[in-house]
Amino acid sequence: MRLTTDGLIVKEQKVGENDRLVTALTRDKGLIRAFARGALGLKNKNGAGTGLFCYSQLTLFSKGDTYTIDEAALQQSFFSLRKDIVKLSLAQYFCEIAIVMAPRETEAEDFLRLLLNALYLLSETKRPALLIKAAVELKTACLAGYMPDAGACAQCGTKESAAWFFNARSGLIFCDSCRPPEGTAVELPCALRDAVLYISGAEVSRVFGFQLSDNALEALSKMTEYYLQVQAECGFSTLEFYYSIARPM
Ligand SMILES: [Zn+2]
Repeated sequence: MRLTTDGLIVKEQKVGENDRLVTALTRDKGLIRAFARGALGLKNKNGAGTGLFCYSQLTLFSKGDTYTIDEAALQQSFFSLRKDIVKLSLAQYFCEIAIVMAPRETEAEDFLRLLLNALYLLSETKRPALLIKAAVELKTACLAGYMPDAGACAQCGTKESAAWFFNARSGLIFCDSCRPPEGTAVELPCALRDAVLYISGAEVSRVFGFQLSDNALEALSKMTEYYLQVQAECGFSTLEFYYSIARPM
């Protein structure tokens, strides 16, 4: 079967002499693995459009669950990400999140739009890196069906509290009076709860449109990263690499 769809290359591996095996996050088929035969050859027409972070119009042949890229017309490459090792490592982390969380064999427009916007804002330094990171982590979890319920206290239903407590396993929040047992929830200051509500509720195109102080962003980023790991039930090797080079002193 032949189909044409837009996709972002989220992983590339060399196979054989000149072939590439890529993982692409596509608009119409979600995550796919596809061969780009000859893509590493000097004059191959598909070389430019099948590298990591390339956003391309892909013409694919499928046979069973094997895809082959017949044509890759490059639309955007986010090449400037490669000039900054911290941005590069964060971009690779965003791609790993997509590989773990995005669906297969079904449309994935929102996942793709989120990742494209994140890479654009990161490469152009349009928003703070930790803000982009936190929004990608939490919104991806939401898109995958793990939306936290931060609207009201899970126990008494109040929407007003001086302090909040968040249980990452259940995604529920508790007010100051219903404070859960020590060790089962982390404190969620009001500004962070507002950010969680914003990211959860916003359209993908607006999800990066909030502001927080640097300290609050750091706390939010810790919380969203933990939440994603708990919900995904796995760690992310690219996140460890990011911290190995970017951990603030
Ligand atoms: Zn309560």
